[in-house]
Formats: sequence, structure tokens, C-alpha cells
Amino acid sequence: MSIDARYATKWETSNPLYIVLKESMSIFQEKRGFEVFLSLFPDSYSNELLERNSKHYNLENLYENIKNHFIAFYDYDPQSEMISKYNRILNSMFDGRDTNKRYIYVDELLQLSINLFIATLLKWYDEKHNNEIYGECFLNTLYLMNNVCIFGDAPSEDGVRWLMEPFKGDPHIISISEDCFWTIMAFTFAHELAHEYIASKKTNRKETKIQGKKKTIDRAKIREEFEADKIAYDIVLRIIMEGDDNEFVLKRYTYLSPMMYMDFFDLFYYTDRVLYKKNVVLSDHPTPKDRKSSLFGIVDNDIYQFDTEEGNNLYNCFLDAFDLYKEELLLKEQKGKLKTVTYTLRRNQLEEKYDS
Ligand SMILES: [Zn+2]
Repeated sequence: MSIDARYATKWETSNPLYIVLKESMSIFQEKRGFEVFLSLFPDSYSNELLERNSKHYNLENLYENIKNHFIAFYDYDPQSEMISKYNRILNSMFDGRDTNKRYIYVDELLQLSINLFIATLLKWYDEKHNNEIYGECFLNTLYLMNNVCIFGDAPSEDGVRWLMEPFKGDPHIISISEDCFWTIMAFTFAHELAHEYIASKKTNRKETKIQGKKKTIDRAKIREEFEADKIAYDIVLRIIMEGDDNEFVLKRYTYLSPMMYMDFFDLFYYTDRVLYKKNVVLSDHPTPKDRKSSLFGIVDNDIYQFDTEEGNNLYNCFLDAFDLYKEELLLKEQKGKLKTVTYTLRRNQLEEKYDS
């Protein structure tokens, strides 16, 4: 099955990959991003189209949209301000320590890497019999997992061009990954706002800490993560069901994108294990695998009605390439072919970042 054949009607980009400026607090420069994007896909887009789309499809609008749905679905009016900067840490978080000023942070690195990650795996699947594309997609996935995810390095502008190389002349794959990206960002915002919502209900919640063998596992926090995921996925699925009635349309075929999001983290930790023999255990988060199975338990509920074939197929294509990466990485590591991209010393210095 070819991805192109199935989704050919969906060409409509909204979020061209932005360009990196490492020195700034922000890695995104919209204007420069447009220029690079147009140079890669001169026949498919115009500056006017990119500008028009980006005025509508942007993080701020999505965030407002999710907040409004929180009011509609959960009768709760979120107060957090959304901040997106480049902090070199691949995550999003809710900060409610100061009850007068609550924040939701989303690292720009997350946006950049998720988008490229999904596009790369889909391209890989789509052209896995083309040796050149196969090799490029492996290296690009490795780069995203190793340099970007593990070390928090945003790629330079040349790096972005290099990462975009497999998609030259194939903007279609980028459009699909963007659609998935918006659903994932909607899920992320809804998840972090769910933390605010849960906190508002349990003002005097007692922290129950149970001593594990190696480190303290905070079971209450882990439960809360599952709860936040449940609320977030409920909101996202209901927004998708609204279809064109919602001004920020999330496409139906992207309904399994939150699973890709979990797989993304899973692959990040997998790469860390293979290259650096590190086994990251987060004391306050469930594993991505556990979160994914809990999400599957939610979407199977009869109250969410999806014509799932398109979405299931897309996710299966994604998983196919996901497995290819895992096999290739292990094989190449065993053959000693990854020595030049294994930065053990630097990785050891990162220990604190993950242990904190
Ligand atoms: Zn959380």
C-alpha cells in the first residue's frame, strides 16, 4: 500500500518547518522557514498560502481552541498561560506552583522533532525499497533520536535542509505529518491543562511516596498521568468528531497520532539503551508503552465513533518503519557501525538531567 495513493487529496500545508537560530531563546523564525520551505517545494506552495495558513494554524490558536473545549466538555475554565521556547528539554509541562500565575510550557524542540520524526518514518515506509531513501531515513531518524532527543541539540539551518532532503518534491508526506502533528499538539495541550484541572480539584492532595528498589516511585503522580491522558484523549477525540464544525479542524485519519507520540518517546529511550546502555526510568511518569496501552483502552470505547480504516492504515505504516529503525539500529550497533555517532562521554554528563 502506498501512503500517497490513500491521502492524495489532503495537500494543504499549514505549518512549514521552521528554521533554527540556536543563539536565540526561540529556534523558530517563520519568515526564514517559509523561504527554505518554498525552496524545497517550489511547485507546491506559495508564500501567500503559507502566510495565510500560518495565521490560522498556529500554536496560540490551537491552545485557545483546546481551552474553549475544556470549558465546553468539562465545565472548567483553564487559567494557564502557554509558553513555547527552546529549553533543550524534550517535553511539555504544567507549572502550577504559583496559583496566581500558572503556565504550560512546550519546548520548541518537541514541535520540531515530532513533525520531522513522523514525516521521516512515513517516507521510510513509503519508499523502503529505494535504497537511497532507506539509508537517509535511517540516518535522519537516528539523528533526531540521538542529537535532538537525547542531547537537546536543535539542528542548524543546514541540518534542517539535510533532514528535509528525503521529502524534496514530495510535500505530501509533510502535509500528513503536519496533520498528525496538530493532533499531537492538541493532545499535549489538553494533557497539560488536565493537570491544571486535576490540581484544581485536589487542592490538598497528599503525596504518597513509596520506596522502590532503586528510586522513589511516585504512584500518585503516575496515576495522575494516566488520568490526564484520559481527559486529553477524550477531548481530542471529541474535537475530531466535530469535524468541520470546529474552526481548528483535526483530521479524522490522525486519531491514532497520540500513539505515535508515545512511540516517539519509546524510540528515544530505546536509542538511549542501544547506544549508551542507559535505562531511563522516570519516577513520576508511566512508561510510554503503558501510556499507549491505556490510550488504546480509551479509544476502543463505543462513545467515540470513527471510521477507522484510514487512520489504522496510517498508523500501521508508521509502525512498520518504527520496527525497521529498531532492527537497523541494533544490527548496526552490534556490527560496530555506530561508533562515530556515539557520544558516550557527553551522555554520561547528562545523567543529572534525567535523574533530577
Ligand atoms: Zn503529565
